[in-house]
Amino acid sequence: MVSVLIPAAGNGERLGLGPKAFLRVGGKTLLEWAVDAFREAAEVLVALPPGAPVPKGLRATFLEGGRSRQESVSRLLEAASLPLVLVHDVARPFVSQRLVGRVLEATRATGAAVPVLPLPDTLIRPEGEGYGEVVPREALRLVQTPQGFFTALLREAHAYARKRGLSATDDAQLVRALGYPVALVEGERAAFKITYPEDLPLAEALARVWNA
Ligand code: C5P
Repeated sequence: MVSVLIPAAGNGERLGLGPKAFLRVGGKTLLEWAVDAFREAAEVLVALPPGAPVPKGLRATFLEGGRSRQESVSRLLEAASLPLVLVHDVARPFVSQRLVGRVLEATRATGAAVPVLPLPDTLIRPEGEGYGEVVPREALRLVQTPQGFFTALLREAHAYARKRGLSATDDAQLVRALGYPVALVEGERAAFKITYPEDLPLAEALARVWNA
């Protein structure tokens, strides 16, 4: 039994088109894409920007988000009523059922699991304005969502982070800071995060052929 937590309270500053939750791709808002991706879930909780209009007709419960992603997830976690949670950024509309299945299976086995991808490009640390040291990309991974956790474990991790003043860009790093392992499963290129304006035509093109 899974509660899906969707932090959607960001203002989409890098994109500059207002909150991403309400951005339209392929005729649907990113929030609608996310809610549709988890249509099998028993519970869906969404954190919206303070003062944002509550969308109509979506099978989800809406809360007011916090000042940071972490704070928004903390609020969603308080409201979650089931033993497993999947935390998913609203900015990633293309989530396949296979990806959700892999994350859930590993979460049930280990308590915490995230999808990751290898890096396709050469990676460097620039020296001033110029080409610098090459960082071995084989050793690195890109981290995506949805991320799965035992609800009790993620609650403990958030409480620990609050006490220690830790701030994190995803939830898995808080679980790791608490000292628990996080399993890795294979991510998907399609689950990319819409971040920059040039991501939008890519998302529009993918929306036309997407069949999760
Ligand atoms: O800006 P960034 O890419 O880190 O945002 C990741 C996710 O966290 C987005 O889905 C965004 O809506 C959400 N977020 C939030 N509350 C905030 C800031 C970001 O729910 N205060």
